[in-house]
This record gives sequence, C-alpha cells and structure tokens, in this order.
Amino acid sequence: MTAVVLDGKACAAEVEAEVSAQVAELAEAGVHPHLAVVIVGDDPASHIYVSGKERACARVGIRSTRIDLPADTDFSRVVSTVEELNANDDVHGILVQSPLPKGMDELAVTDLIDPAKDVDGFHPSNLGRLVQGRVDGMVPCTPAGIVHLLNWGGVELSGKRAVVIGRSRIVGTPVSLLLARKGVDSTVSVAHSRTADLAGLCRQADILVAAVGRAELVRADWVKPGAAVIDVGVNRVDDDSERGYHLAGDVHPEVSAVAGTISPVPGGVGPMTIAMLMRNTVRAAFNQSK
Ligand code: NAD
Repeated sequence: MTAVVLDGKACAAEVEAEVSAQVAELAEAGVHPHLAVVIVGDDPASHIYVSGKERACARVGIRSTRIDLPADTDFSRVVSTVEELNANDDVHGILVQSPLPKGMDELAVTDLIDPAKDVDGFHPSNLGRLVQGRVDGMVPCTPAGIVHLLNWGGVELSGKRAVVIGRSRIVGTPVSLLLARKGVDSTVSVAHSRTADLAGLCRQADILVAAVGRAELVRADWVKPGAAVIDVGVNRVDDDSERGYHLAGDVHPEVSAVAGTISPVPGGVGPMTIAMLMRNTVRAAFNQSK
C-alpha cells in the first residue's frame, strides 16, 4: 500500500482563493486588511518564514508591513513596538515571529498583543477560548491548518483514536484540543518526551500527528496500517549537497508504505499554516470593522 498524499499546497490554494474573495468584499466596504509582522534578530529560518508570509499576503491582497529589529534590541523596544501596533487602527493583525532572541520572554510578548489582532492565536484569551471548546476567537494557524487538511482529505475524525506527539502551546496542545472538541470528536492522547512506549501508543492511532522537531522519528512499525499521518516537523539535516542541508519531517519516508494518508514535508502543513494566517487576518479585519 502507498499512502495517499494530502496535498497541502492544493488545499491552501483553495483557502487562499476564498480569502482573496473576502479581501475584495472588505475593500468594497473600505476596509483593507493589514498584517504587521515583527521579526527580531537574524535567525535565517525565521526570515524565510516571514518572507513566505509576505508573499502570501501579496497573493491574496492583504497589505503587509514588516518591522525588522536587530538581535540586540532592548526588550522594552519590542514591547513599545507591539503597543504601537495595538494602538494603530490601520493594523488588523500582529504577529511577532518566533523564536525571539535568547533571553527575551516570548510569553510576555504574546500576553501584550491585543487578542483581537492576535492572528497567531497564542494570546491566553484566544487559547482559553479553545479550552472552552470555542473556535470564535483566533485559532492558532498550524493546528487549524492540520484539521482543515484532514477534513479536506476526507479523513474521518469522529470517534477515531488520535495521537498527537508533542505538547507545545504552538502545535501539540492546541491541535489536541481541536481534534477532541465537540463536533470533531476524536479521542485524543497527547504524547511527549516522557511518554512510555511511544511506538506502542502511536500504533493505536487512526490519526497520528507528529509535532516533535526530530527528523524522521516516526518509523513504519509505529504506524497502524491505513492510519492518517500528519507530519508537522521541519528539521534541517546536514548533507553533502551544495546547500549543505535538506529539510526532513518528523516522519520517516518508509511510513508511506504503511499509512493510508500522509502529509508531505515540504508541501503539507507548511502551506496550510500560512493559509490559516491569511484567514485569521481577514477575520480580524472584519471583526474590527464592525
Ligand atoms: P517544541 O520544541 O515546542 O515542542 C516539541 C514537543 O515534542 C515537546 O512537547 C516535547 O515534549 C516533544 N518531544 C521532544 N522529543 C520527543 C521525543 N523523543 N518523543 C516524544 N516527544 C518528544 O516544537 P513545536 O514548536 O511544537 O514544533 C514541532 C515541530 O513542528 C518542529 O519541527 C517545528 O519546526 C515544526 N513546526 C512546523 C510548522 C509548520 O507550519 N510546518 C509550524 C510550527 C512548528
């Protein structure tokens, strides 16, 4: 058996087409969605991610402003930047690219962002809504993208056993909440670095989400035949190529021979994350225009 590939690019293109139409409708009402992205320091991967977000904004007609701050920026400058963006009625969405330079308190920055403009969905009030089973706030982009991709691929979630590897506040925890919420109705286990017999737990999963950050951790004998496997990991693996590295997911390529459905890296969850960011930004603009 070879797994059906969940084409995140194709699915994201559909979401972006919907977002473009919403942007056009808002424009008719005189509202021009505007995303501000703050990036602190020179982490190369972060710069690649931010460029990808800017390109997506251009594709769907969202205005984007990028604020580059040097790595040695004072924390108070990051705080004042966010406060200025909060107060600016012309800006509908604010994203502070993670990771911040060592020593900067990311949670403190997250807490500062106006929840209505928190397009990443990490503010306690947005994550808190998710705990309440509500999706009327800003839902974190990668988790929302994962569930959207599973639905798009026709993967049955209700009553199914889901295992999420990873418990981060960015991916693992919110995706487990989304999968377990009423109406989606998966039965979810959250695994992490202290989980005993991880392979045995994973083998029980109808839906396996790997959000770990360990290249090719999930092997074929961890996967129930026919399971849907979502690979969230993006890992740099050094090699002899001209570039000196390639990207690998958290799921070993051999899993394709066992799984029923699988999301590739790249081209799976990555494009979905960006599409959901576009969706959140338009939603934020709409809500703020009311
Ligand atoms: P994180 O480091 O915050 O969390 C990793 C989680 O994995 C932790 O909860 C930890 O307990 C668990 N873990 C670590 N080692 C483990 C092991 N050996 N066995 C079981 N669990 C283990 O990472 P994150 O922010 O959640 O991101 C996870 C991965 O997803 C990374 O590779 C990241 O680059 C990628 N990511 C991709 C996107 C995207 O859009 N494609 C978005 C966000 C994150």
